[in-house]
Formats: sequence, structure tokens, C-alpha cells
Amino acid sequence: MQYDVIIAGGSFAGLAAALQLARARRKVVVIDAGQRRNRFASTSHGFLSRDGATPGQIIAEARIQLGRYATVEILEAMVLKARRTGQEEFTVTTPDATFTARRLILAGGVQDILPEIPGVMERWGKSIFHCPYCHGYELNQGEIGILATGALSMHQAMLLPDWGTTTLLLNGSFIPDAAQLAELAERGVTIEDRLITRISGASQPVVELADGESLAFSGLFTMSRTLAGPLAGQLGCELKDGPMGKFVGVDEFQQTSIPGVFACGDVARAAGSVTLAVADGAMAGVGAHRSLIFR
Ligand SMILES: Cc1cc2nc3c(=O)[nH]c(=O)nc-3n(C[C@H](O)[C@H](O)[C@H](O)COP(=O)(O)OP(=O)(O)OC[C@H]3O[C@@H](n4cnc5c(N)ncnc54)[C@H](O)[C@@H]3O)c2cc1C
Repeated sequence: MQYDVIIAGGSFAGLAAALQLARARRKVVVIDAGQRRNRFASTSHGFLSRDGATPGQIIAEARIQLGRYATVEILEAMVLKARRTGQEEFTVTTPDATFTARRLILAGGVQDILPEIPGVMERWGKSIFHCPYCHGYELNQGEIGILATGALSMHQAMLLPDWGTTTLLLNGSFIPDAAQLAELAERGVTIEDRLITRISGASQPVVELADGESLAFSGLFTMSRTLAGPLAGQLGCELKDGPMGKFVGVDEFQQTSIPGVFACGDVARAAGSVTLAVADGAMAGVGAHRSLIFR
């Protein structure tokens, strides 16, 4: 099947790209594996006019609106392979089909790799978060714990006192130096250096410590590592190092180092959000469209 643009990943970034291309009446296929990064959270915050909405509801409404454009197809599948097959031709394969297009947009997001503490995964997006702007307000200025994963956790520890009384749980992952201790003290952060055995608790997380004591919190934060999918590497796109993981380098039109391949959303930035993914996606859609004309 031949398209103007293939979009690999059909969440906030990919659907925003598709919308711009749909409005230019271009033939687009969005192929989506359905594993949105925020699928663990029941509400999404900070996206203007949709603050507090269910993430799945935002996507469902976007899909309904895109369904009104005759030139857009949305398929449920995982793109396994992407390659350049001609001067202006890209081919992607899913388990069941092959698609070709003149442009390709990578919008596959990233996967979070969480600290290996029992009880973290089940609470991810419910009472353990990474982004205070997304989920800090709802903790109502309560007790906040940070599960440190390394020196980068200093960043969360310095920010979070604006959202509640903050404890930095080092868990053996790093030792703040004298200057960092002074900065933390200035922000009123308590340091806890006992090792953690697991997280328990229902709606409010409880940190169980190695010496048998436990600490209850309104919510916990931790810095995940992020993993981008293999497609950018298969195509030879330049990757950049971010604080949490590698991401695809793009120009101001979201074009990667490979002409004709665009990338948007979390896969193409050091740190992302719904708002930023939608903005990047809109630009990738416009960028891909313009590149079909101004060659
Ligand atoms: C727990 C949690 C809560 C969050 N809460 C908020 C919040 O409240 N507000 C906010 O602004 N941000 C929030 N975020 C961040 C937000 O989820 C991301 O910034 C946003 O989802 C990025 O959108 P995206 O379209 O780039 O990627 P995603 O939403 O992750 O979507 C990528 C899509 O591409 C698909 N895909 C991946 N690879 C392929 C492939 N090879 N073939 C086909 N499809 C593929 C995936 O399955 C997925 O459907 C949260 C993140 C987490 C982890």
C-alpha cells in the first residue's frame, strides 16, 4: 500500500501529526501499538482545556475526529521494521503487512524503566510518579517521598518542596556532597538513607525500610530511565543523549538527520508531556507536508 506519509505511533504526537496532514488532504496511515506512556494513570493534567481528563478519552476523541477525514487510516499494529527503499520511499513492516510512503514520521514515544524495588510497578501512575507538574497538585501539599535513582534525583528533590513536605530516600543510589546537602537543607528536604525493601499501601504508598520501620506518604516520585524503540536506529537517525535516555535529534520542522524521516513527541525530546507531544506532532505533520512540496 502506497501513502504520502506513514506515522509509526498513534498517540498524542502521532495523531497531532496526522491531523495536520489530513487537513492538507494527504494520504496517511497511522500505525499504533496501543501502549501509551501514560496508560497507567487515570487522569492527565496540564494540557490546556483537558486538565483532569482521562488520557484514553483524549485519544478516543482525537481518533473520532480524525475518522472524519477520508484520507487517514488508523491501524492497530506494531511496526517491526522501517527502512529507506528508494530516493523518496520508506517501507515499514508490521507482523501482517508492508506499507510504503514518501515520508515517515516516528511518534512511538518511550518506555519507562523503573527502579527495581518491589511494589513500584503496580503503583506507577497511581501513587508513584515522575512529573510533579502532572501529578503533584493532587497530593494536596502532603508528605512526598522521592525514590532516588542517582544524582539526577537531586533535581526532583529541589523541585518537589513546592508540592509538599519532601523526603529524599537515597536507597544507596547516591551520596549528596556538602554543597548538595546545603541546597537540600535550604529547601527543607529531609534525607533518609536507610535502604528500602519494598513499597506497600493501597491508595497512599508506604515505604518499608530494611530495619523494619515504615514511612507513609501521600505520593512518591522517582526518575525513570527512558528507552526509545528501535526504528530510529534501523533508519540511521542521529540520536542524542538526554538525562533519562537517548532521544532522536530533530530540526525546527522535526526532521531527523535522515531526510524524509520526521520524529515527534517523547521519542524526540529529552523530557516530554502531552502538550509538548501535541505541539511537536503538529510541527512534524506540517514539516512532512511541506517537504513533499518544497523538495
Ligand atoms: C505515569 C505517567 C503519567 C503521565 N501523566 C502525564 C500528565 O498528567 N500530563 C502530561 O502532560 N504528561 C503526562 N505524562 C507524559 C505523557 O504520557 C507523554 O509525554 C506523552 O504520552 C507522549 O506522547 P507521545 O505521543 O510522544 O508518546 P506515547 O503517548 O507514549 O505514545 C506512543 C505510541 O506509539 C506506539 N508505538 C511505539 N512503538 C511503535 C511501533 N514500533 N509501531 C507502532 N506503534 C508504536 C505506542 O504503543 C504508543 O501507543 C505521563 C507519563 C507517565 C509515565
